Amino acid sequence: MGVLALQGDVREHARMLEHLGAQVTPVRRPAQLGEVDGLVIPGGESTVIDRLARLTGLREPLREAIAGGLPVLGTCAGLILLAARLRDGGPGQETFGGLDVTVRRNAFGRQTESFETDLVVPALEGPGADGPPVRAAFIRAPLIEEIGPAAELLAALPDGRAVAARQGRVLGLAFHPESTGETRFHELFLQVVRES
Ligand code: GLN
Repeated sequence: MGVLALQGDVREHARMLEHLGAQVTPVRRPAQLGEVDGLVIPGGESTVIDRLARLTGLREPLREAIAGGLPVLGTCAGLILLAARLRDGGPGQETFGGLDVTVRRNAFGRQTESFETDLVVPALEGPGADGPPVRAAFIRAPLIEEIGPAAELLAALPDGRAVAARQGRVLGLAFHPESTGETRFHELFLQVVRES
């Protein structure tokens, strides 16, 4: 498993993936994209990750890899970078695409308005239904304002607003499961990788 290691909470994702039995490679150069079966794009600052992806020459190969079916899990800034359409992006900010959603960056306000809440996650029902609630941390988080026909809802706030979506092998979460010790999204992602 690769973790895009340009900026953000790379170490937390690497630790969780290793805990789940995966072998982890930090991805910083285009050639490393060919060495991984799946990629996590961590939370952090999407404008910085976007800029560093151009500087390192990763942007175009990564776009192509995602379009070509590389499984990708993006959290928070990672969700922003996967969005097909972005609102309130930074000056000149672009995304890699891959997820047919419209995302509003910083939709919940400033860092001090960060919060934790339980989520409604239809995809984790079944085994997860009798399990503990899905607890998620929102840190200067984005919101999914529209889900296009190619994508589906993965998780919502109790009021129904969408905070995670999936399009085939591409999963985007507005929150940080890795910071509350919530392993089920990473497990779901590893299952997607195994099936691909
Ligand atoms: N607000 C950040 C951005 O625009 C995302 C915050 C996060 O990843 N926790 O990229």
